[in-house]
This record gives sequence, structure tokens and C-alpha cells, in this order.
Amino acid sequence: MATASTDTARREPRAVSDSLGAIEKTPEVRPEAMTPGGSLVGLTRAALKERLAALGVPEREQRMRAGQLWHWINVRGAADFGAMTNVSKVLKAQLAEVHTLDRPEVVSEQVSRDGTRKWLLRMPPTGRHDHNRGAEIECVYIPANDRGTLCVSSQVGCTLTCSFCHTGTQRLVRNLSTQEIVSQLVVARDRLGDWPGQTPPKGAFVPVDGSRFVSNIVFMGMGEPLYNVDNVIDAIGVMSDHEGLGLSRRRITVSTSGVVPQFERLGIDANAMLAISLHAVRDDLRNELVPLNRKYPIKDLLQACRDYPGVSNARRITFEYVMLKGVNDSDAEARELVRLLKGIPAKINLIPFNPWPGSQYECSDWDRIERFSEIVFNAGYASPVRTPRGRDILAACGQLKSETEKLRARARLMLEDGIGAEGVYGAGHDDD
Ligand code: SAH
Ligand code: SF4
Repeated sequence: MATASTDTARREPRAVSDSLGAIEKTPEVRPEAMTPGGSLVGLTRAALKERLAALGVPEREQRMRAGQLWHWINVRGAADFGAMTNVSKVLKAQLAEVHTLDRPEVVSEQVSRDGTRKWLLRMPPTGRHDHNRGAEIECVYIPANDRGTLCVSSQVGCTLTCSFCHTGTQRLVRNLSTQEIVSQLVVARDRLGDWPGQTPPKGAFVPVDGSRFVSNIVFMGMGEPLYNVDNVIDAIGVMSDHEGLGLSRRRITVSTSGVVPQFERLGIDANAMLAISLHAVRDDLRNELVPLNRKYPIKDLLQACRDYPGVSNARRITFEYVMLKGVNDSDAEARELVRLLKGIPAKINLIPFNPWPGSQYECSDWDRIERFSEIVFNAGYASPVRTPRGRDILAACGQLKSETEKLRARARLMLEDGIGAEGVYGAGHDDD
């Protein structure tokens, strides 16, 4: 197993050093999406009002007009201004001259045998920051009988370099804007037929209990959400607006590798559920697996969890623990995990390691995972083992990476798995 430091060194020249050693790569900066024109999909109410003001809509009308647009975009899923029956012709024409209701481009859609869907999305180009091509990110839909979970990305790539994570090997890193984060939900609703009056594509797996097809959001795609906390908080605000996209904040979970100083803001301003990528019970091992641990060690991390605003038995913190064979999966480590979490309202999620091309770890054997889970369970914690979903299309945790090099790997894996047309189907907007 390579150590974290050799791992980050391998990623030079983007790796940067601080007094604690190389933990992060430098992110690409990018101008915020306040340029004139562009799509109105995914904007906050405030940003919509600004766009209206820029078009010369008088101040006294801005709130009402923004409310109308908000309804069409976020409740009805409108994709063209023509559909907006209660908006005046003049305003519609003005809007259409400068703005669009475009979504990010769906470059590909893959459907796993278990119904998981993965979309490769291309954002509008931002200039030299993404080589005029538009950044690509991945977004995954995981259906179950009683819920549909959308796993969204918060960054293109990730500046952190956890040694077991595919995303961390991507070089180009930038924050996604609020609009780019929210648009992932809008695209999912488009593709799933999850707007009023629409139906899902033939053969699609969606919840059967009458839930919205996307009922839950997890920030477990690409990136470290708490390194993009302002946009993540605003995006959660848009996604949870009762008169809009309408998701419950209790069904929105932000997963972090442990950016302790941002916990308070997330709790107070987003009131979202928190998940911690713990993965190790000793600092020496966690330093290796999750290098950010050198900045915020386990003791500080757990204290920040105890202090998380709103934490209670009804709003537990999820601790994620990836099962790595011979690395972190002993009985002693299971017992230490239970000891460490004492007093914190917690759920423990055991994640079988998902391999990716070139990864240096193996997933723990099944009986080892069961034994680990039993120890945790006997100590009074629910300890579900997360069933890997969408492994055949590299859609499972930590497998996301949006670079062409991976497309080749994916194609190869799919061939090996014998997945043909049912595994991948075309891009564009026609429902297959
Ligand atoms: N950056 C955030 C959120 C994205 S990662 C974080 O680290 O929490 C989402 C989850 O997938 C994290 O718990 C992460 O540790 C886990 N993960 C990463 N790579 C994985 C892999 N190869 N197998 C299983 N889980 C993985
Ligand atoms: Fe980034 Fe999370 Fe992957 Fe670590 S596990 S490299 S924080 S995406």
C-alpha cells in the first residue's frame, strides 16, 4: 500500500505543500457565474431578481416576477419561456433575448443492472479555466422502493487526495457554482420524468411508494462540499424551497472528509444532515487514508460532531467507514470505533471498498465485514453495510472521475462485465 505522501507526490505538479505536508492540490479559480446572459435554471431567488433588474424590470415588480419564474423553473420544470402562461409576452421576449433555460449537457447516461443511473454532465464553458470545453462532472441516481437518492457533485474533481478515492486522482479542480449544483437535480428530474404530468422512461427503476423520484440528496459525488461551502449552502436553500424543488432538509446529507471549521455554518445556515468520512480510528492510519486528518485530527473532528448544531437522536450524524482488507477492518478497530463514538448520536455506515482502475486496496472479505458489523451492532448502533450500487458502471462511492482516460477504463470494464446496450445508452434528451 502506498502512503499518502507518495500518493500526493505522484500527483505533482498540482500538489501544494503547507507546514503539514502535501494535503491539497491548488484549485482552479473561476469567475463566479454572474456574467450577463446564460441560463436561469438553478439560480437562487436573489440571483433571479438581479437578472430581472438587469433587464429593467421595475423594482416593485421584481419580487412577483421572480416568483413566477421560480415556479415555472422549479415546480414545473419549464424548459422554454413560451410555456410560462402567466408571464407577459413582452417580458418573455426580453428574457429569451438574453437568457435560456438550458440545463448542463447530458454527455452520456449509463444504467446499471440494478437500476442505478449515472450521468456525465458537461457544464457550459467558462473560458480558459476549463480549456473552453466546459467542465465535466458525474451525478448518480440510486433508486429504492421507498426513496430515490441523487448523489451530487460539489466540485470538479477534489483538491484532497484520500488514498482510496478515484476522484482524488483528478488533476483539474474547481468549485461548482450554486447553479451548477442545483442543475444536477433539474437534469435528474428531466431524465426521470419527475415533473408534474410526466412519466418515467420505460423500464426505469423509481420508488414505488409514491415518493418523488428524487426524494433525497447526498453530497457524495465528486469533491469536498465544505471546501465550497457558500455555494453548497445556497444550493441546499434552492433545493429545499417549499415553493420550488421542495426537498426536505432532513433528506439532504452533506458528506465531508472533516473540514471542521465549516461544520457550524453548515449546521446553522443549511440545517442539513451531516455525514463524516471517518474510515480509521487512529490518527496514524487516518493521516494516510484521509490526509486532511493531519489538519483536523480525530479528536477535534469528533468534538465538532458533538457540537454540530441540531444534532440529536432524531438527527444523527452518519459515520462512513470504508472496509479495506487488512487495513482498517479488525475486531479491535470495530471496538475502538464504538468507544470513540460514545455519546454522539450516530449511525455507522460500512461501505465495501469499491475498486477502480489502478487502486491499491482490496475490499474486506464478506465474513470480515459481517463480523465488524456485528460488533458495532452489538454495541447498540445500527450498522448497515451499504450495498454497492452501480459498480458495473463505476457509479459507486469513490469511483467517480470525469476524464477521458476513465471513459476508456469504463468501456473496458463494461466489456469485461458483458454489459452491452442495456448498460449504456445514448446521450441527448430522448427517453429510451
Ligand atoms: N468529499 C466528501 C464527499 C465525497 S466522497 C467525503 O470525502 O466525504 C463520498 C464517500 O465515498 C466518502 O465517504 C468517501 O470516503 C467514500 N469513498 C471514496 N472512495 C471510495 C471507494 N473507492 N470505495 C468506497 N467508498 C469510497
Ligand atoms: Fe475528495 Fe472525498 Fe475523495 Fe477524499 S474521499 S479525495 S475528500 S472526494
